[in-house]
Parts: sequence; C-alpha cells; structure tokens
Amino acid sequence: SKRQMSTALKPITDPNVKLTGVFINNKWEESCSGETFETVNPTTGNVITRVAKGNAVHVNRAVDAARAAFHRNAPWRTMDAANRGRLLNKLADLIERDAVYIASLETLDNGKPFTASYHIDIPYSIDVLRYYAGWADKNHGKTIPVSGNFLATTRHEPVGVCGQIIPWNFPILMWAWKIGPALATGNTVVLKPAEQTPLTALYAAELCKEAGIPPGVVNIVPGFGDAGAAIAQHEGVDKVAFTGSTEVGKLIQQASGKTNLKKVTLELGGKSPNIIMDDCDLDLAVEGAHMGTFFNMGQCCCAGTRVYVHSKIYDQFIEKSVKKALKRVVGNPFDLKTDHGPQIDKEQLEKILCYIEVGKKEGAKLATGGKRVGDQGYFVEPTIFTDVDDKMTIAREEIFGPVQQIMKFDCLDEVIDRANDSMYGLAAAVFSNNINTINILSQSLQAGTVWVNTYNTILPQAPFGGYKMSGIGRELGEYGLDAYTQVKSIICSVPHKMS
Ligand code: ADP
Repeated sequence: SKRQMSTALKPITDPNVKLTGVFINNKWEESCSGETFETVNPTTGNVITRVAKGNAVHVNRAVDAARAAFHRNAPWRTMDAANRGRLLNKLADLIERDAVYIASLETLDNGKPFTASYHIDIPYSIDVLRYYAGWADKNHGKTIPVSGNFLATTRHEPVGVCGQIIPWNFPILMWAWKIGPALATGNTVVLKPAEQTPLTALYAAELCKEAGIPPGVVNIVPGFGDAGAAIAQHEGVDKVAFTGSTEVGKLIQQASGKTNLKKVTLELGGKSPNIIMDDCDLDLAVEGAHMGTFFNMGQCCCAGTRVYVHSKIYDQFIEKSVKKALKRVVGNPFDLKTDHGPQIDKEQLEKILCYIEVGKKEGAKLATGGKRVGDQGYFVEPTIFTDVDDKMTIAREEIFGPVQQIMKFDCLDEVIDRANDSMYGLAAAVFSNNINTINILSQSLQAGTVWVNTYNTILPQAPFGGYKMSGIGRELGEYGLDAYTQVKSIICSVPHKMS
C-alpha cells in the first residue's frame, strides 16, 4: 500500500504543534498538577514543546470516562456494530486527509525519515483501521448443537475498558494497531503514548472526536512509566495491551496478577534470526538482511539482527552487505533523499554505542560503521559486525539500533538449533530458493512470524506476535480480535428440540 511518491510532495519541516494536553471525554485538559514534560526532536536534541504530564490522577479520570462510555445504556454500547465500523472508516479518512501533517509531526517527534512516515507509517495505520472497520459487524458467534433440550449460542462481547501502552518506535502505527481492533469490537480505551513521542497520538485523538466517536470511548493520557503503571494496576481496567520492552512487559503481567487479573497481551522484544542459504538470490538476501536490520534505524522489535549466512556465500554476502550499508544516506529525516535518521534519544544512542564497544571487546570484527555521526542529534552509523559468535553479548541481547551481527553456518540442522537458541521468538526469516529447505525452516523456527524471501512484511490481515519471551497473544488479522473480545455462551432451555 505504498502511496505513489508525488513530485509535489513536501513535508512540513516545522509543523505547528497544536495539541499537548490530556484527552478525556473528548475534551482537552491541561495537567491538573500543572506538570509538563519536554518532547525532544532527536534530529537536533532541541525541545519541540512541552506536553501535559499525565499521572495516576489522570488515569483514574480517564478510566472513569471509559467506564461510563462502556455503560450498557451508553451510545457506544447500543450503537449498531456497523456504525462502529463507519466511525473507524471515518477516522481513517481523516488521517488520510491530514497525512502530510501527521507524517511531518511524526518525523519531527521521532526522527524517522519523512519518506517512511508518509509512505509506510501513515498508510499502514490507515490500512489497519480500515481492516478492523470491516470486522465490526462480522465478528459473530455460533449456534451450537448441544445435547439435551437446550439452545446454545455464543456472543463475542467486548472486554470492556482497555488500557493500551505503546512505544516510541512506530508512534501512530502502534496507536492504530491498538485503537482499531479495540473499537471495532466495542471496547473503550485509555491509551498512553510513549513519553518520547506523544504528539501524533494526541493529534489523532482530536480526529477521533471529529469522526464522531462518542466521548469517553478514546482517552489519551500522555506521560511516563508511572502513568503506564497506574493503568496496569487499575481495578477498573479490564484488559491491558502493551508493546515495549520485555522488562516492562513482565511488570505489566505482575501488576495484573496483583490486582484484578485483567487480561494481558504483550508484544515485546526480539533478537530475530535471518537465515541466508547458499541457494538464495544473493542480492535479494542482502537487501532483505539490510532492511531487516536497518529499517527504522534498527528500532524494530522484529529486527533481524542475527544474520546466519551459509559458509559458501559468507565472504560474498559480507562484501555486498558492507557496500550497501555504506550507501545508506544518513541525515536530516525531512530530506527526501535520507534513508536513515537519528535514534530516538540520548539514552538509546549511548546504549547502542556501548553495545558496539562490547562487540569489539568480545572479539567480533567490525566490518563497517561503529561510530556516532556528528555531534548534534542522535545519529549512529549503519554498523555491521562479522565473525560473530553465538555466545557474544551482541548476538544475544536486543540492541534496538542499526547494528547487524553476521554469523557463519554450514548445515541446516545446525542453524535451526542456533537460531532457536534465544529467549525471544518474535520473527525469523529464510532466504532460499529450495522449497524443501523453506518448508523445514518455516516449520522448525520458533517464532510468531517466519518470513520467506522477504523481511518486515507485516500485513493487517496476518497475525503478528511472539513465541517465548517475545510476548503473549497476537495482534492483527482475525486472531487479533481474540485479544479484544470474550466469548459468552448463552444456554436456553427449550421445550422441544429439533435437530
Ligand atoms: P523502551 O525501553 O523501548 O522505551 P519501555 O518498555 O520502557 O520501552 O516503554 C514502552 C512503554 O511502556 C512506554 O509508553 C513507557 O512509558 C511505558 N512504561 C515504562 N515503564 C512502565 C511501567 N513500569 N509500567 C507501565 N508502563 C511503563
């Protein structure tokens, strides 16, 4: 769904930031404590604006609003399911109308190249909203032929008030992944954007109101981890959907266990293997591994940073990969020629540089990159390590930056075991032209998604989520509806039964 790049396309390099409050009941509030926080432009390190700092008090109010909107007599509960779908479609239309502005705001706040915000993040957000809009009146139950004089039917009911905590790497896209299925199935929402990137979530909240979504259905509380924790611990929240680090994912699960056993879905970290067989189309594999690592400056939970290359093509693969990494245009994300913007913040920059030092110390060979670019903003060179050993820190831990680890292998059985030797299991990929190899690998890799001769291909219709410590539950596709519905059996006595 890449939109055609129009020659007239121009980003707004200084988008006017209009909305910086807490959004509850379709109204904008300043922070009640008067506290605000800075959101920083990662390209320059300069403050863009200050945003209301939501805390537990705001979360309480947002949950009250969401509960009221979920009341059995409220407009949202009594509305035809088809109309929920129409509202989501309207929301998607408004995002499309304002695509240049929202993409510009995203690039300002997150640093991702405008070409990506405009051609990937925004259209994929629109697609996911429209996909779930279509489900609104199609996610129905069954009539079941039970034993005895009974009629049994099932209803797919909304879970209730959904807390949604999202990360900074795909701010508007993660917003859409969360809002789409929640609203299609009739839930209400309290969403917290990441503190690094609150701006597009806040702007899109105003579009929910403009679309005609009733007050209290979507509430947005910008803030830090304490606001997220308040959501995770809240007795009035029926379900929490979290995307972020495995570390915080564990806290969310614990908070549920300590309070009301709210349903928990988690989409967490990864260290995904990408297996390059000697019978692959080499250029395609180099490109796939390149995008698998460097897309979004490596800030992808499904990044394919463990690249296992067959010994027969190992040297050639490295040579081509290094050439490609060197060609990557690093710079101002508003420049349409730029492929690669800054990392999100100083903390991430330092963490990545530290991993690079550890990689060198532990004996991996730095084939290209390895340094910060400039002294303004948080840019890191596209970096490739070769001769990486599976035991090295850089081969085991999620770096969340533009750092690729290349490892050598000789046989299929060996590489399966090595690929699966990770606490994570979000994604995996194989580049090969042998159907038997492809089938063996796609069955034996322990990952929620296995890509074959492609990477990062995430589609609204296909489920996405983690095996092992990469998460619980699935987002997207029909399976994604499970997280936002609970099934009710209705068993009714009947005087006479007919089969
Ligand atoms: P990262 O390390 O990539 O920033 P995090 O898991 O820390 O990822 O953050 C993802 C989201 O979780 C953000 O919205 C963040 O504010 C929120 N968050 C951080 N700490 C907590 C917590 N203890 N409870 C709930 N949410 C949290």
